Amino acid sequence: MAKSQDFIQRSLVVLKPDTVQRGIIGEIIQRFERVGLKIVGMKMVMPEEKLYRAHYEDIGQMITRRGEQAFRYNVEYMMTGPVIAMVLEGVEAVPLVRKIVGPTEPKSAEMGTIRGDYSHMSFGYSDAKGVGVPNLVHASGNAEEAKKEIDLWFNANELYDYSDLNEKFTR
Ligand code: ADP
Repeated sequence: MAKSQDFIQRSLVVLKPDTVQRGIIGEIIQRFERVGLKIVGMKMVMPEEKLYRAHYEDIGQMITRRGEQAFRYNVEYMMTGPVIAMVLEGVEAVPLVRKIVGPTEPKSAEMGTIRGDYSHMSFGYSDAKGVGVPNLVHASGNAEEAKKEIDLWFNANELYDYSDLNEKFTR
């Protein structure tokens, strides 16, 4: 039988430059905290292009999935300012965080998700404008990618094991 600990996952979340520049870091973090996810690592960083290439292509295979142009626009968008990188921990946290964030295209994201509540741009508009889609948050796509992304963004000594008050009721 699976042990309860086997269900505990960590997910990488990045609050993108639009979240930082719009001044809504606190509002977005609150959405993760209120479901009982635990922040086990967090920092403001302005990564070099090399990190974004590793993140979106080596791990995320974005060129294969979305094409060279979308990849280039996206890297340009991510390089427009500092971001907040976080590691969130909880029960099946990887799919949970994706649910909270919503799908990639803001236009298609349901109200109640971060992308649906805070943005409305479409793929058609971003392509015509020649920009990356500003959709506030990155969240790991699956458990395997989450492990690789956390390794890429964080050193082991930047992640913390501790108990929080939510755990008793939310996991
Ligand atoms: P997600 O972030 O939802 O996992 P992807 O990994 O496919 O989505 O894409 C990475 C990011 O690149 C998206 O979050 C979005 O900001 C941007 N992006 C995706 N597709 C396009 C596109 N067609 N044009 C511009 N930017 C895009």
